Amino acid sequence: MPELTDAQLDQLIKDIGLKRPRGGSQRKPIAHGTFKGARQHRYRQEPLCPPCPEAENAYQREQSAGKPRRPKKDPKEKVYLTEEEWQARQAARKGGSQ
Ligand SMILES: [Zn+2]
Repeated sequence: MPELTDAQLDQLIKDIGLKRPRGGSQRKPIAHGTFKGARQHRYRQEPLCPPCPEAENAYQREQSAGKPRRPKKDPKEKVYLTEEEWQARQAARKGGSQ
């Protein structure tokens, strides 16, 4: 068994198709350490390498820093009434419909 350099080994792995690119054609290399790279990891459902989530967090910080934070109001938010308020509301409803 001849000794192979890393480059030769990489070439060999490529040649015999060990990498099995899913989805057909050769995939683009991931742009590690960028927001885009993190997205690529997620898209491929593989664990993110250390620089990628960092870049993603930085990107998201940047995004949220640019915009004023507006608290999201949930329109379906439940309103809890006291017993009296509920009674008053029921009375108002009855009174209004008849
Ligand atoms: Zn990465």
